[in-house]
Amino acid sequence: MARATVTTNKGKFYCWLVFCPGCECVHGPNAGWTFNGDFEKPTFSPSILVKGADGDGAKTVCHSFVRDGQIQFLGDCTHELAGKTVDLPDEFNNDFNTADYVEQAEKLNFRK
Ligand SMILES: [Zn+2]
Repeated sequence: MARATVTTNKGKFYCWLVFCPGCECVHGPNAGWTFNGDFEKPTFSPSILVKGADGDGAKTVCHSFVRDGQIQFLGDCTHELAGKTVDLPDEFNNDFNTADYVEQAEKLNFRK
């Protein structure tokens, strides 16, 4: 049961990952965030703001607080979970290819 994981790049810390149920992809807070060290009930601060574009080129926003294993979506999110707080999925139980997630994370623009 892990709701966050850590990724490395060339043996060095790269970022943490949580799976965002609003975007259905990972978000990767890096060393600019603080992490409570609890992979089952992660808390990151400050908030995570992800701006991107969907397949049609429309701008997307995901703005959230991850606290105590839950993700609180703020009202400026463009996805359907805007304004809601939900449990983070325990996405990181099984073997998975971390490199895929890192590649995905690198394409997005992470800001606090
Ligand atoms: Zn998201």
